Amino acid sequence: MENTRLTAAMEWTLKKILITGGAGFIGSHLCERLLREGNEVICVDNFFTGAKRNVVHLMQSPYFELMRHDVCFPLYVEVDEIYNLACPASPIHYQHDPVQTTKTSVLGAINMLGLAKRVKAKILLASTSEVYGDPAVHPQTEGYWGNVNPIGPRSCYDEGKRCAETLFFDYQRQHGLDIKVARIFNTFGPRMMPDDGRVVSNFIVQALSGKPLTIYGDGSQTRSFCYVDDLVDGLIRLMNSPSTTPNPINLGNPGEFTVRQLAEKVLQQVGGDSELQQKPLPQDDPRQRQPDIGLAREMLGWAPKVPLDQGLEHTIGYFRNLLAGAD
Ligand code: NAD
Ligand code: UDP
Ligand code: UDP
Repeated sequence: MENTRLTAAMEWTLKKILITGGAGFIGSHLCERLLREGNEVICVDNFFTGAKRNVVHLMQSPYFELMRHDVCFPLYVEVDEIYNLACPASPIHYQHDPVQTTKTSVLGAINMLGLAKRVKAKILLASTSEVYGDPAVHPQTEGYWGNVNPIGPRSCYDEGKRCAETLFFDYQRQHGLDIKVARIFNTFGPRMMPDDGRVVSNFIVQALSGKPLTIYGDGSQTRSFCYVDDLVDGLIRLMNSPSTTPNPINLGNPGEFTVRQLAEKVLQQVGGDSELQQKPLPQDDPRQRQPDIGLAREMLGWAPKVPLDQGLEHTIGYFRNLLAGAD
Protein backbone atom coordinates (compact mmCIF):
# COMPACT_ATOMS: atom_id res chain seq x y z
CA MET A 1 0.00 0.00 0.00
CA GLU A 2 1.09 3.60 -0.46
CA ASN A 3 1.35 4.53 3.21
CA THR A 4 3.95 2.02 4.34
CA ARG A 5 6.78 4.46 5.24
CA LEU A 6 5.36 7.06 7.58
CA THR A 7 7.01 8.90 10.44
CA ALA A 8 5.55 8.60 13.93
CA ALA A 9 4.12 12.11 13.61
CA MET A 10 2.47 11.23 10.32
CA GLU A 11 1.06 8.01 11.75
CA TRP A 12 -0.53 10.00 14.54
CA THR A 13 -2.58 11.97 12.02
CA LEU A 14 -4.02 8.93 10.22
CA LYS A 15 -7.76 8.54 10.59
CA LYS A 16 -8.56 5.29 12.41
CA ILE A 17 -11.53 3.56 10.88
CA LEU A 18 -13.31 0.48 12.20
CA ILE A 19 -15.20 -1.66 9.68
CA THR A 20 -17.33 -4.44 11.16
CA GLY A 21 -18.10 -7.19 8.69
CA GLY A 22 -14.97 -5.98 6.88
CA ALA A 23 -14.05 -9.44 5.58
CA GLY A 24 -17.36 -9.78 3.74
CA PHE A 25 -18.27 -8.84 0.20
CA ILE A 26 -18.96 -5.08 0.55
CA GLY A 27 -16.76 -4.71 3.64
CA SER A 28 -13.63 -5.98 1.88
CA HIS A 29 -14.04 -3.42 -0.92
CA LEU A 30 -14.55 -0.69 1.68
CA CYS A 31 -11.41 -1.76 3.62
CA GLU A 32 -9.41 -1.72 0.38
CA ARG A 33 -10.60 1.74 -0.66
CA LEU A 34 -10.17 3.38 2.77
CA LEU A 35 -6.70 1.89 3.18
CA ARG A 36 -5.73 3.06 -0.31
CA GLU A 37 -6.88 6.56 0.60
CA GLY A 38 -4.34 6.65 3.46
CA ASN A 39 -6.37 5.70 6.51
CA GLU A 40 -5.69 3.16 9.22
CA VAL A 41 -8.28 0.38 8.97
CA ILE A 42 -9.36 -2.07 11.65
CA CYS A 43 -11.42 -4.87 10.16
CA VAL A 44 -13.56 -6.80 12.64
CA ASP A 45 -15.25 -10.01 11.54
CA ASN A 46 -16.36 -13.36 12.97
CA PHE A 47 -15.98 -14.98 9.51
CA PHE A 48 -19.55 -16.31 9.46
CA THR A 49 -19.98 -15.35 5.82
CA GLY A 50 -16.76 -13.40 5.31
CA ALA A 51 -13.31 -14.85 4.81
CA LYS A 52 -9.67 -13.98 5.34
CA ARG A 53 -9.02 -14.50 1.63
CA ASN A 54 -11.15 -11.39 0.92
CA VAL A 55 -8.68 -9.17 2.76
CA VAL A 56 -5.45 -11.18 2.67
CA HIS A 57 -4.02 -8.84 0.02
CA LEU A 58 -4.34 -5.94 2.51
CA MET A 59 -2.41 -7.64 5.29
CA GLN A 60 0.98 -6.53 4.01
CA SER A 61 0.07 -3.00 5.09
CA PRO A 62 1.01 -2.11 8.67
CA TYR A 63 -2.05 0.14 8.68
CA PHE A 64 -4.48 -2.74 8.21
CA GLU A 65 -5.51 -4.86 11.19
CA LEU A 66 -7.77 -7.92 11.11
CA MET A 67 -9.57 -8.91 14.33
CA ARG A 68 -11.68 -12.02 14.80
CA HIS A 69 -14.55 -10.77 16.92
CA ASP A 70 -18.33 -11.15 17.15
CA VAL A 71 -20.10 -7.78 17.40
CA CYS A 72 -22.69 -9.29 19.75
CA PHE A 73 -19.97 -8.81 22.38
CA PRO A 74 -18.48 -5.51 23.56
CA LEU A 75 -15.44 -4.16 21.75
CA TYR A 76 -12.96 -1.66 23.11
CA VAL A 77 -10.84 0.10 20.49
CA GLU A 78 -10.00 3.75 19.88
CA VAL A 79 -11.26 4.93 16.48
CA ASP A 80 -12.52 8.03 14.68
CA GLU A 81 -15.14 6.40 12.46
CA ILE A 82 -17.17 3.17 12.51
CA TYR A 83 -18.80 1.49 9.52
CA ASN A 84 -21.13 -1.15 10.98
CA LEU A 85 -21.62 -3.74 8.24
CA ALA A 86 -21.53 -6.96 10.29
CA CYS A 87 -24.57 -9.06 9.36
CA PRO A 88 -25.15 -11.89 6.89
CA ALA A 89 -26.92 -10.43 3.87
CA SER A 90 -28.10 -13.26 1.65
CA PRO A 91 -31.38 -14.99 2.51
CA ILE A 92 -29.89 -18.48 2.85
CA HIS A 93 -27.24 -17.19 5.25
CA TYR A 94 -29.42 -14.94 7.39
CA GLN A 95 -32.09 -17.66 7.62
CA HIS A 96 -29.53 -20.31 8.63
CA ASP A 97 -29.58 -19.07 12.26
CA PRO A 98 -32.28 -16.40 12.40
CA VAL A 99 -31.92 -15.76 16.13
CA GLN A 100 -28.22 -15.04 15.63
CA THR A 101 -29.10 -12.72 12.73
CA THR A 102 -31.36 -10.59 14.94
CA LYS A 103 -28.74 -10.61 17.70
CA THR A 104 -26.05 -9.48 15.28
CA SER A 105 -28.15 -6.56 14.07
CA VAL A 106 -29.47 -5.48 17.45
CA LEU A 107 -26.68 -6.32 19.91
CA GLY A 108 -24.11 -5.36 17.26
CA ALA A 109 -25.76 -1.96 16.89
CA ILE A 110 -25.90 -1.44 20.69
CA ASN A 111 -22.24 -2.34 21.16
CA MET A 112 -20.99 -0.26 18.23
CA LEU A 113 -23.15 2.70 19.30
CA GLY A 114 -21.83 2.36 22.87
CA LEU A 115 -18.31 2.36 21.43
CA ALA A 116 -19.06 5.38 19.23
CA LYS A 117 -20.48 7.21 22.24
CA ARG A 118 -17.42 6.51 24.40
CA VAL A 119 -14.83 7.52 21.79
CA LYS A 120 -17.01 10.21 20.10
CA ALA A 121 -16.73 8.54 16.70
CA LYS A 122 -18.99 9.03 13.71
CA ILE A 123 -20.92 5.83 13.03
CA LEU A 124 -22.58 4.49 9.89
CA LEU A 125 -25.14 1.69 9.70
CA ALA A 126 -25.34 -0.52 6.63
CA SER A 127 -29.12 -0.77 6.62
CA THR A 128 -31.11 -2.19 3.75
CA SER A 129 -33.90 -1.71 1.26
CA GLU A 130 -35.48 -4.70 3.06
CA VAL A 131 -36.77 -2.24 5.66
CA TYR A 132 -39.36 -1.37 2.95
CA GLY A 133 -40.43 -5.04 2.82
CA ASP A 134 -42.73 -5.80 -0.11
CA PRO A 135 -43.20 -2.14 -0.94
CA ALA A 136 -46.55 -0.55 -1.68
CA VAL A 137 -44.77 2.65 -2.77
CA HIS A 138 -42.64 2.52 -5.92
CA PRO A 139 -39.88 3.64 -6.29
CA GLN A 140 -39.05 3.66 -2.61
CA THR A 141 -38.33 7.01 -0.94
CA GLU A 142 -36.78 7.33 2.50
CA GLY A 143 -40.08 8.66 3.86
CA TYR A 144 -41.89 5.38 3.14
CA TRP A 145 -42.35 3.34 6.35
CA GLY A 146 -42.43 -0.02 4.61
CA ASN A 147 -44.53 -3.15 4.42
CA VAL A 148 -42.66 -5.78 6.41
CA ASN A 149 -43.98 -9.09 7.72
CA PRO A 150 -42.78 -9.14 11.36
CA ILE A 151 -43.08 -12.93 11.78
CA GLY A 152 -41.94 -14.45 8.47
CA PRO A 153 -38.71 -16.15 7.42
CA ARG A 154 -37.16 -12.84 6.26
CA SER A 155 -38.15 -10.97 9.44
CA CYS A 156 -34.96 -11.71 11.39
CA TYR A 157 -33.09 -9.66 8.80
CA ASP A 158 -35.69 -6.99 8.02
CA GLU A 159 -36.81 -6.36 11.60
CA GLY A 160 -33.25 -6.68 12.91
CA LYS A 161 -32.20 -3.85 10.60
CA ARG A 162 -35.31 -1.82 11.44
CA CYS A 163 -34.50 -2.13 15.15
CA ALA A 164 -30.87 -1.20 14.45
CA GLU A 165 -32.12 1.95 12.68
CA THR A 166 -34.29 2.76 15.72
CA LEU A 167 -31.26 2.40 17.99
CA PHE A 168 -29.18 4.66 15.76
CA PHE A 169 -31.81 7.41 15.86
CA ASP A 170 -32.30 7.02 19.63
CA TYR A 171 -28.56 7.31 20.27
CA GLN A 172 -28.60 10.44 18.10
CA ARG A 173 -31.54 11.97 19.99
CA GLN A 174 -30.53 10.77 23.45
CA HIS A 175 -26.74 11.03 23.29
CA GLY A 176 -26.08 13.43 20.40
CA LEU A 177 -24.20 10.87 18.27
CA ASP A 178 -23.24 11.74 14.69
CA ILE A 179 -25.03 8.88 12.94
CA LYS A 180 -25.32 7.93 9.26
CA VAL A 181 -27.86 5.39 8.04
CA ALA A 182 -27.47 4.00 4.51
CA ARG A 183 -30.36 1.98 3.10
CA ILE A 184 -28.46 -0.21 0.65
CA PHE A 185 -30.24 -1.77 -2.32
CA ASN A 186 -29.10 -4.99 -4.07
CA THR A 187 -25.37 -4.74 -4.65
CA PHE A 188 -23.17 -7.05 -6.69
CA GLY A 189 -19.58 -7.48 -7.81
CA PRO A 190 -16.40 -9.48 -7.30
CA ARG A 191 -16.09 -11.34 -3.96
CA MET A 192 -19.75 -12.24 -3.75
CA MET A 193 -19.77 -15.85 -2.60
CA PRO A 194 -20.46 -18.30 -5.41
CA ASP A 195 -22.90 -20.31 -3.30
CA ASP A 196 -24.73 -17.74 -1.21
CA GLY A 197 -27.94 -17.99 -3.24
CA ARG A 198 -28.13 -14.37 -4.39
CA VAL A 199 -29.50 -13.93 -7.83
CA VAL A 200 -26.49 -12.34 -9.56
CA SER A 201 -23.95 -14.87 -8.27
CA ASN A 202 -26.35 -17.78 -8.83
CA PHE A 203 -27.02 -16.86 -12.45
CA ILE A 204 -23.36 -16.22 -13.29
CA VAL A 205 -22.11 -19.42 -11.68
CA GLN A 206 -24.92 -21.43 -13.28
CA ALA A 207 -24.23 -19.95 -16.72
CA LEU A 208 -20.47 -20.51 -16.42
CA SER A 209 -21.01 -24.13 -15.38
CA GLY A 210 -23.50 -24.80 -18.19
CA LYS A 211 -26.32 -25.44 -15.69
CA PRO A 212 -29.90 -24.13 -15.98
CA LEU A 213 -30.52 -20.64 -14.56
CA THR A 214 -33.00 -20.93 -11.67
CA ILE A 215 -35.81 -18.38 -11.96
CA TYR A 216 -37.90 -18.18 -8.79
CA GLY A 217 -41.57 -17.63 -9.59
CA ASP A 218 -42.31 -16.30 -13.07
CA GLY A 219 -39.28 -13.99 -13.01
CA SER A 220 -41.36 -10.83 -13.32
CA GLN A 221 -40.29 -9.53 -9.89
CA THR A 222 -37.87 -6.62 -10.16
CA ARG A 223 -34.65 -5.56 -8.49
CA SER A 224 -32.20 -2.70 -9.03
CA PHE A 225 -28.56 -3.77 -9.05
CA CYS A 226 -25.72 -1.49 -7.93
CA TYR A 227 -22.08 -2.25 -8.69
CA VAL A 228 -20.01 -2.51 -5.52
CA ASP A 229 -17.53 0.29 -6.38
CA ASP A 230 -20.40 2.76 -6.74
CA LEU A 231 -21.90 1.63 -3.46
CA VAL A 232 -18.60 1.98 -1.58
CA ASP A 233 -18.24 5.49 -2.98
CA GLY A 234 -21.72 6.33 -1.67
CA LEU A 235 -20.95 4.95 1.79
CA ILE A 236 -17.77 7.05 2.06
CA ARG A 237 -19.55 10.18 0.86
CA LEU A 238 -22.26 9.60 3.44
CA MET A 239 -19.71 9.15 6.23
CA ASN A 240 -17.98 12.38 5.19
CA SER A 241 -21.20 14.38 4.90
CA PRO A 242 -21.98 17.09 7.47
CA SER A 243 -23.75 15.96 10.66
CA THR A 244 -26.77 17.97 9.55
CA THR A 245 -27.28 15.78 6.45
CA PRO A 246 -30.67 14.08 6.70
CA ASN A 247 -30.84 10.34 7.42
CA PRO A 248 -31.55 7.66 6.30
CA ILE A 249 -30.31 7.81 2.70
CA ASN A 250 -31.04 5.30 -0.06
CA LEU A 251 -27.95 4.02 -1.89
CA GLY A 252 -28.60 1.93 -4.97
CA ASN A 253 -28.78 1.96 -8.71
CA PRO A 254 -32.21 3.09 -9.94
CA GLY A 255 -31.98 0.95 -13.10
CA GLU A 256 -34.76 -1.59 -12.54
CA PHE A 257 -34.79 -5.04 -14.17
CA THR A 258 -36.95 -8.14 -13.90
CA VAL A 259 -35.19 -11.26 -12.74
CA ARG A 260 -35.86 -12.75 -16.17
CA GLN A 261 -34.16 -9.77 -17.87
CA LEU A 262 -31.15 -10.27 -15.61
CA ALA A 263 -30.98 -13.95 -16.58
CA GLU A 264 -31.06 -13.00 -20.27
CA LYS A 265 -28.27 -10.44 -19.80
CA VAL A 266 -26.07 -12.97 -18.02
CA LEU A 267 -26.68 -15.58 -20.71
CA GLN A 268 -25.91 -13.07 -23.43
CA GLN A 269 -22.54 -12.19 -21.86
CA VAL A 270 -21.47 -15.67 -20.80
CA GLY A 271 -22.67 -17.42 -23.93
CA GLY A 272 -23.29 -21.16 -23.71
CA ASP A 273 -26.62 -22.89 -23.90
CA SER A 274 -28.02 -22.86 -20.36
CA GLU A 275 -31.80 -23.01 -20.12
CA LEU A 276 -34.08 -21.08 -17.79
CA GLN A 277 -35.62 -23.31 -15.13
CA GLN A 278 -38.58 -22.12 -13.07
CA LYS A 279 -38.57 -22.80 -9.29
CA PRO A 280 -41.04 -21.84 -6.55
CA LEU A 281 -41.00 -18.23 -5.37
CA PRO A 282 -39.72 -18.01 -1.77
CA GLN A 283 -42.19 -16.75 0.88
CA ASP A 284 -42.39 -12.95 1.29
CA ASP A 285 -40.17 -12.33 -1.75
CA PRO A 286 -40.67 -8.61 -2.56
CA ARG A 287 -42.37 -8.10 -5.95
CA GLN A 288 -40.53 -4.94 -6.89
CA ARG A 289 -37.68 -2.81 -5.70
CA GLN A 290 -36.19 0.42 -7.02
CA PRO A 291 -34.49 3.17 -5.05
CA ASP A 292 -35.42 6.82 -5.32
CA ILE A 293 -31.93 8.33 -4.94
CA GLY A 294 -32.98 11.99 -5.10
CA LEU A 295 -31.71 12.60 -1.57
CA ALA A 296 -28.30 10.99 -2.22
CA ARG A 297 -27.94 13.01 -5.42
CA GLU A 298 -28.79 16.26 -3.66
CA MET A 299 -27.05 15.78 -0.30
CA LEU A 300 -24.03 13.67 -1.32
CA GLY A 301 -23.63 14.57 -4.99
CA TRP A 302 -23.73 10.81 -5.56
CA ALA A 303 -25.16 8.66 -8.31
CA PRO A 304 -24.00 5.26 -9.59
CA LYS A 305 -21.70 5.37 -12.62
CA VAL A 306 -21.32 1.71 -13.57
CA PRO A 307 -24.12 0.37 -15.79
CA LEU A 308 -25.43 -3.14 -15.13
CA ASP A 309 -23.82 -4.60 -18.28
CA GLN A 310 -20.38 -3.29 -17.35
CA GLY A 311 -20.70 -4.44 -13.74
CA LEU A 312 -21.77 -7.88 -14.93
CA GLU A 313 -18.72 -8.05 -17.19
CA HIS A 314 -16.34 -7.46 -14.22
CA THR A 315 -18.25 -9.89 -12.03
CA ILE A 316 -18.37 -12.61 -14.69
CA GLY A 317 -14.59 -12.20 -15.11
CA TYR A 318 -14.12 -12.64 -11.37
CA PHE A 319 -16.24 -15.81 -11.22
CA ARG A 320 -14.59 -17.21 -14.36
CA ASN A 321 -11.20 -16.98 -12.60
CA LEU A 322 -12.61 -18.30 -9.35
CA LEU A 323 -14.15 -21.37 -11.00
CA ALA A 324 -10.90 -21.96 -12.89
CA GLY A 325 -9.14 -21.95 -9.51
CA ALA A 326 -7.12 -18.84 -10.32
CA ASP A 327 -8.52 -16.44 -7.66
P1 NAD B 1 -21.54 -10.48 3.63
O1 NAD B 1 -22.30 -11.61 4.24
O2 NAD B 1 -20.59 -10.76 2.53
O3 NAD B 1 -20.76 -9.69 4.76
C1 NAD B 1 -21.17 -9.61 6.09
C2 NAD B 1 -19.94 -9.76 6.98
O4 NAD B 1 -20.34 -9.66 8.35
C3 NAD B 1 -19.26 -11.12 6.81
O5 NAD B 1 -17.88 -10.92 6.66
C4 NAD B 1 -19.59 -11.85 8.10
O6 NAD B 1 -18.63 -12.81 8.45
C5 NAD B 1 -19.67 -10.69 9.08
N1 NAD B 1 -20.47 -10.99 10.28
C6 NAD B 1 -21.70 -11.57 10.33
N2 NAD B 1 -22.11 -11.65 11.60
C7 NAD B 1 -21.12 -11.11 12.37
C8 NAD B 1 -20.95 -10.91 13.76
N3 NAD B 1 -21.88 -11.30 14.65
N4 NAD B 1 -19.81 -10.33 14.21
C9 NAD B 1 -18.85 -9.94 13.32
N5 NAD B 1 -18.96 -10.11 12.00
C10 NAD B 1 -20.08 -10.69 11.53
O7 NAD B 1 -22.63 -9.42 3.18
P2 NAD B 1 -22.48 -8.08 2.34
O8 NAD B 1 -23.26 -8.26 1.10
O9 NAD B 1 -21.06 -7.65 2.25
O10 NAD B 1 -23.27 -7.07 3.27
C11 NAD B 1 -22.61 -6.17 4.15
C12 NAD B 1 -23.65 -5.31 4.86
O11 NAD B 1 -24.41 -4.58 3.91
C13 NAD B 1 -24.64 -6.13 5.69
O12 NAD B 1 -24.91 -5.44 6.88
C14 NAD B 1 -25.87 -6.17 4.82
O13 NAD B 1 -27.03 -6.28 5.61
C15 NAD B 1 -25.80 -4.83 4.11
N6 NAD B 1 -26.50 -4.87 2.81
C16 NAD B 1 -25.99 -5.59 1.76
C17 NAD B 1 -26.71 -5.64 0.56
C18 NAD B 1 -26.20 -6.39 -0.62
O14 NAD B 1 -26.88 -6.40 -1.66
N7 NAD B 1 -25.06 -7.01 -0.59
C19 NAD B 1 -27.94 -4.96 0.45
C20 NAD B 1 -28.42 -4.28 1.55
C21 NAD B 1 -27.68 -4.22 2.73
N1 UDP C 1 -19.57 -0.82 24.53
C1 UDP C 1 -18.55 -1.35 23.78
N2 UDP C 1 -17.41 -0.63 23.64
C2 UDP C 1 -17.23 0.57 24.25
C3 UDP C 1 -18.29 1.10 25.00
C4 UDP C 1 -19.45 0.37 25.14
O1 UDP C 1 -18.67 -2.43 23.23
O2 UDP C 1 -16.15 1.16 24.07
C5 UDP C 1 -20.81 -1.59 24.66
C6 UDP C 1 -21.09 -1.97 26.10
O3 UDP C 1 -21.07 -3.38 26.19
C7 UDP C 1 -22.47 -1.45 26.37
C8 UDP C 1 -23.02 -1.03 25.02
O4 UDP C 1 -21.89 -0.78 24.23
O5 UDP C 1 -23.32 -2.43 26.92
C9 UDP C 1 -23.88 0.20 25.09
O6 UDP C 1 -23.11 1.22 25.70
P1 UDP C 1 -23.78 2.44 26.41
O7 UDP C 1 -22.68 3.26 27.04
O8 UDP C 1 -24.69 3.13 25.50
O9 UDP C 1 -24.72 1.79 27.52
P2 UDP C 1 -24.44 1.01 28.86
O10 UDP C 1 -25.08 -0.31 28.67
O11 UDP C 1 -22.96 0.91 29.05
O12 UDP C 1 -25.08 1.84 29.88
N1 UDP D 1 -33.84 -15.26 -7.42
C1 UDP D 1 -34.04 -16.08 -8.53
N2 UDP D 1 -33.17 -17.09 -8.74
C2 UDP D 1 -32.10 -17.34 -7.93
C3 UDP D 1 -31.89 -16.49 -6.82
C4 UDP D 1 -32.79 -15.47 -6.59
O1 UDP D 1 -35.00 -15.91 -9.29
O2 UDP D 1 -31.36 -18.28 -8.21
C5 UDP D 1 -34.77 -14.13 -7.21
C6 UDP D 1 -35.31 -13.99 -5.80
O3 UDP D 1 -36.49 -14.75 -5.64
C7 UDP D 1 -35.58 -12.49 -5.73
C8 UDP D 1 -34.48 -11.89 -6.60
O4 UDP D 1 -34.01 -12.94 -7.43
O5 UDP D 1 -36.82 -12.19 -6.30
C9 UDP D 1 -33.32 -11.32 -5.80
O6 UDP D 1 -32.88 -12.30 -4.89
P1 UDP D 1 -31.62 -12.08 -3.93
O7 UDP D 1 -31.60 -13.22 -2.96
O8 UDP D 1 -30.41 -11.85 -4.75
O9 UDP D 1 -31.91 -10.70 -3.21
P2 UDP D 1 -33.17 -10.16 -2.34
O10 UDP D 1 -34.34 -11.07 -2.52
O11 UDP D 1 -32.67 -10.15 -0.95
O12 UDP D 1 -33.43 -8.84 -2.94
